[in-house]
Amino acid sequence: MAKQDYYEILGVSKSASAAEIKKAYRKMAIKYHPDKNPDNKEAEEKFKQAAEAYEVLSDQNKKARYDQYGHAAFEGGQGGFGGGGMNMEDIFSQFGDIFGGAFGGGFGGFGGDSRGQARVKGSNLRIRVKLTLEEIAKGVEKKVKVRRKVQAPGVKYQTCNTCNGSGQQMRVTNTILGRMQTATTCSTCHGAGETISSKPNGADAQGLIIKEETVSIQIPAGVTDGIQLKVGGKGNDAPGKNAIAGDLLVLIEEIPHNTLKREGTNIHYDLYISLSEAVLGTSKEIETVSGRVKVKIDAGTQSGKILRLKGKGLPSIERYGNGDFLIHVSVWTPQELTKEQRRFFESMKEDDNFAPNPQKNDKSFFEKVKDMFS
Ligand SMILES: [Zn+2]
Repeated sequence: MAKQDYYEILGVSKSASAAEIKKAYRKMAIKYHPDKNPDNKEAEEKFKQAAEAYEVLSDQNKKARYDQYGHAAFEGGQGGFGGGGMNMEDIFSQFGDIFGGAFGGGFGGFGGDSRGQARVKGSNLRIRVKLTLEEIAKGVEKKVKVRRKVQAPGVKYQTCNTCNGSGQQMRVTNTILGRMQTATTCSTCHGAGETISSKPNGADAQGLIIKEETVSIQIPAGVTDGIQLKVGGKGNDAPGKNAIAGDLLVLIEEIPHNTLKREGTNIHYDLYISLSEAVLGTSKEIETVSGRVKVKIDAGTQSGKILRLKGKGLPSIERYGNGDFLIHVSVWTPQELTKEQRRFFESMKEDDNFAPNPQKNDKSFFEKVKDMFS
């Protein structure tokens, strides 16, 4: 079956703004939300499709790739879906915020298990992790301390009297179209189907206590500033025997590097050489993100030359291969001269070897920039 276009799924035009896309998704998500369409496979499918479309169109990088390559951009399992679609828990934990209180009680959201029973999911926790360019180049494991809410040891639950354990209350209202029955989340147990019968001292009203835990996070190589990773099940617990913990959302921050400048997967470095090094040639050791590299500077190198170390930049998080390390060469002109040096340069004023004489292979600045992005 051919995959439907993401813009069509959300009913927006290709030129829609981020706010329009978000609004369209919210509308679809509420319309096809499983709470409103219990046991409706078609609605569930539409709900998942909308989430998948939004996952791509709300992300600038993914949207750009989709605009260029269509669905082919995410084939082969590298795009995050692998063609298999998203499961409901992913959708709730990733886009829970979009419902903005339209669903769920005090918790993160609701999943459904195979028995169709409501399962309360705990809220997500958010942390920031700062990474150096070197860590981003290789990928890194970070251990962080997280203060999570967990079920207190010894807490006991009983079936909720209000909803008899279903987690939902049925409400019958008379409308113009006749009697309508709607299911809402149980106001007593907030969907858990259980209430607390006894809890130890120190536990909160939901039978939860705060516990400090060390969580290990595997950060893949090539992450960018602002990207958010998810560690499943390391957020807050929710009350109840069937409850599942929320997720830990990890926001990546990149620490600016002293000498290197990142641009996507490419890295730029300014190298200053002396006038005599430019004239006579030299070799330099340069610190890249993946170790030191010896670079040969040819005799007669012009200021402004860009040396490209192919593949010595950063890996792409989507694994398209590495970017390049670009060395921008500047020739340092001496500002003070001895008498002897002054005499030498003055004697060279009329010398043909010192007169500018750009050749075809001495590219202009604009051509160089064009090359760099090609
Ligand atoms: Zn209840």
